[in-house]
Parts: sequence; C-alpha cells; structure tokens
Amino acid sequence: MARFVFITGGVVSSLGKGLTSAALGALLQARGYSVRLRKLDPYLNVDPGTMSPFEHGEVFVTDDGAETDLDLGHYERFTGVAARKTDSISSGRVYQNVLDKERRGDYLGKTIQVIPHVTNEIKDFIRIDEDDVDFMLCEIGGTVGDIEALPFFEAIRQFSQDKPRGECIFMHLTLIPYLAASGELKTKPTQHSVKELRAIGIAPDVLVCRAEHPIPEGERDKIALFCNVRKEAVIPAYDLASIYEAPLAFHGVGLDQAVLDAFQIAPAPRPDLRVWRDVFDRIENPEGEVRVAVVGKYTQLDDAYKSIREALTHGGIANRVKVRAEWLDAEVFATSDAASKLDGYHAILVPGGFGERGTEGKMKAAQFARERKIPYLGICLGMQMAVIEAARNLCGINNAGSEEFDTEKGEKRFDHIVYHMKEWTEGNRTIKRTADDDKGGTMRLGAYDATLKAGSQVEEIYGTPTISERHRHRYEVDISYKQQLEQCGLTFSGLSPDGKLPEIVEIDDHPWFIGVQFHPELKSKPFDAHPLFEGFVKAAVAQSRLV
Ligand code: GLN
Repeated sequence: MARFVFITGGVVSSLGKGLTSAALGALLQARGYSVRLRKLDPYLNVDPGTMSPFEHGEVFVTDDGAETDLDLGHYERFTGVAARKTDSISSGRVYQNVLDKERRGDYLGKTIQVIPHVTNEIKDFIRIDEDDVDFMLCEIGGTVGDIEALPFFEAIRQFSQDKPRGECIFMHLTLIPYLAASGELKTKPTQHSVKELRAIGIAPDVLVCRAEHPIPEGERDKIALFCNVRKEAVIPAYDLASIYEAPLAFHGVGLDQAVLDAFQIAPAPRPDLRVWRDVFDRIENPEGEVRVAVVGKYTQLDDAYKSIREALTHGGIANRVKVRAEWLDAEVFATSDAASKLDGYHAILVPGGFGERGTEGKMKAAQFARERKIPYLGICLGMQMAVIEAARNLCGINNAGSEEFDTEKGEKRFDHIVYHMKEWTEGNRTIKRTADDDKGGTMRLGAYDATLKAGSQVEEIYGTPTISERHRHRYEVDISYKQQLEQCGLTFSGLSPDGKLPEIVEIDDHPWFIGVQFHPELKSKPFDAHPLFEGFVKAAVAQSRLV
C-alpha cells in the first residue's frame, strides 16, 4: 500500500516544485522507503513531444518510449528510479482517453462531464501500480488558480477522500517575496494561495516557502497561524549553489520529518545521506576545471538541454572537476571561422536537434574536433553531423547530407548518408511509418539495445558488450556506407543487435571522438555519472593538461 504525497504550487510558477519533489523522493529513499514520482500536467498537449524546446524545455524520454516533461528527468536524477510512461499525464491525454471511451460507447450513453468522468480518469491514472511502492509522490503542474488545473485539484481532493484517513497528504510550494524598499518578507501571497487551495477543498499539511532571505521565526509563526499549518511543517527553501545540495538542505530544514509527521509515522527510520554528502563534497571542492563548448541550436533557454547540462555536471562530479559548459550557437560557425570560436575549449559536444538550421556549423565543430584531436561527443544529430562531415571530408562524398534537410525543402539535394527509416523492429514487433504520419510520437523512441564492437573504445568505456540506451529520432545513418566510411577511419563500434542500425561511431586515430545515435544524458545521475559523460570529461581533463 502506497502513501500519497500531492505536491502543488502557488503564487508564481517556476518555484522548483519538480526539484523539491525529487529531493523529497531522495530523502524518503535515504530512510529506506521505496518511492515513485509522477507528474500531472494541466496543459492540453497530449504529450510534450511536439512542444518547442524554446518554450517548454527539453523533452525527457523514458525507457518505455514516452515523451515526457523534463521534471521526470529530475525525478530520475535524484532517485535513480527509471520513470515509465505511466508516470506522466497531461490534460490533453486525459481528455483524449475520455473522448475515446465516449466514442467507443464505454459510458453507455451517459452525459460526459468533468466530474466524474474526467476526474475519474485522473484518479485511475494516479492509482496505476500503487502497490509497488511505499510512497507515491504526485506533482501537479502549473499553479493554483489555473483554469486547466482545476480537474486535477478536484481529482486529488476526491482521491484523498476515497482513501482511508492518513494515506494522503498535501504539500504546497509558495513564494515569500522580499520587498527591498521596506526590507520585509511578505507572507500575504502565501496566505492567499492557501486560501485559494482551501476553497477547492484542499488543506495543505506541509508548506514549502521559497524565499531569497531568511524567514524569521515570527514570520514562520504567522504563516503557520494564517495558513492553518503546523509550525514545524512550514519549511523554508532558500536558493542553493547547486541543485544537488537540495536533499541535504531540505533535510536540514526538516522537510522529510514534516512529511513523516504528517503521515504520523513515528519513530521514523533515520536517513543515510552519505551518497548526497559525497556528491556535494565533490561539487564544493573540485580539484580542477574544464571548459566544454556545447554547439547547439536551442541555446537561449537553459532548460532546452537540461539533461545534457546535468550529465556534464555528473561527469565533473565523477572526475572531481568543475565543468564549465559554454553554449555556442551553431549558426554562428556557418559564416565565421570555427577555430576562432572553439580554440581554448578542452572538449566539444554537439547535442541532438531537429531541422537543417545550424547543421553546417555543427559539422564545422565536428571537423574542428576531429582535426585538432579535441575530445568530441556527438549526441543523436551530433552523431549524424560527425558522420556526414567524415563522409564529405574524409571519404570525398561531397554531397553527403541527411534526408531530414531534403524533406524540409521538398527536393533531393543530398546523398542520404542519413535517411528516414520507415520500418524497424522493436523486440519481435515490426514498426512501420509513412512520410506523412503525424508528427507526434512517430520517432524511434525509448530503450533499444546495441552491441558493442570488441576492443573498441566504447566497449572499454562501458565495460560490457551490450548496452541499452534511450532514443528519440526519425533518421538513421545508412548502414550501407559502413564499409566505405570505415576505410576512411570512422569505426562503427556500436550496432543494433540485428546489425542494421549504426548506434555508435568512433575514430581510432583520435584521443576521444565518439558519436552516439541515442541520448546517454537521460540516464546519468549525480551519484552515478553515465560512463560516456564520465569518459568525456576525463578526456577533457587530459586535454586541459596539454594546453
Ligand atoms: N533530427 C534528427 C532525427 O530525427 C536527430 C534527432 C535528435 O537529435 N534527437 O533523426
């Protein structure tokens, strides 16, 4: 039987609900409990797969192939529990399910309404696999008062009533703003936010108050009094130098204790926080620093490459160095000399991306790394660009390109070294798609195995002959070019088990040049860096000693 913690937010968005939920998950685990985290998003998109990274940040992909909110990435990074398709839902999906049922006649002619049909759908979702864990943490996206979020609030209210007393608690995250002119922290927005929540039948058990200045004892008393929350359950949350300090910081201010108290779990097992202390110590006391250039397209929004940022940090933690990642707009290289921009970096990473814009610049970055023998990690599109660059400049296939760029313009301009795959196998199923399938969910998504070439660099890095990694792409490097490219110095060191799809390429005559068709960043953890990121940062450290 799981206990449920529902996490909501008020006053403003972007207060760090996802991070707070993830840190609470880590703290409960540190006390020996099993946890699962879920995200309920009020927006009407069916999933974030079609949302622009500029607007919504990165799309996080699970092993079972769901395109989800980036908060699931936080959950995984803090708890190590692999998220599933069933851990993320949006209003769009809820309504789609309800309308599909209505069309099928499942409701037997009843009038379909938000209560009970939509709310029941949400409650069914929350209940999935509830018996698997000790604690289920469900975060509701958006803020109290959002129109789209109302059915979710109503559903969690009902859910807590359906369950026996003491099995559900509500945690609410708010902001205590600081007025510089009067030098005061203001509690009124929090009071209003809780009032709004109580008006829809939810009384928070724990209040997490984000503040940029220490909350004095008196203000804490006031918040407790006016919001009808126990004083020990008013938890301050201050800005942190690193997000990975969050479990220790929240433990320090009593978050996990407040949650256990709310469930009346006493005495509670003591937490073992050694892993987080070690992570934090490595972040606080680095023994060096490396500079990594990330040459991408979505460089304006921090969250667009969230997992890559974090995975680089993890690579730094594993090597006890600080990784200073600098984000360079690939388009700049198309017109200027790459060398002038890339000189002085200890490693170059080209991340995933969609569309032709910026790709010539990404190829220049790959060429620069290859020729100057700078460590290079190409991820997804970054691998495809490295292969096309090698095809053009090492093998003399001058017109090498990707079908993706032709499709955009509707004419054949390139030799398709990278082509649009229309059919592939997933386990023992054959998946087919046509050029005009819907944009949503038509990619090769989720975990696929790859077989590593004996004696290759990646086999040494992973230390195993078979790996499983997460994918999110439509196009593939054409295996029929393997022989030709290998003769020019590019080794296909990882292939799909049937040998048809190139998964990894590397260059032998180079200290560290690896391109991967999958997204290793999605599986990296602060306490267990992904081997490719650990190896990449290690190569950057070696490079930093050369220059
Ligand atoms: N646009 C490329 C493809 O669809 C790469 C995708 C990615 O980098 N995630 O294959």
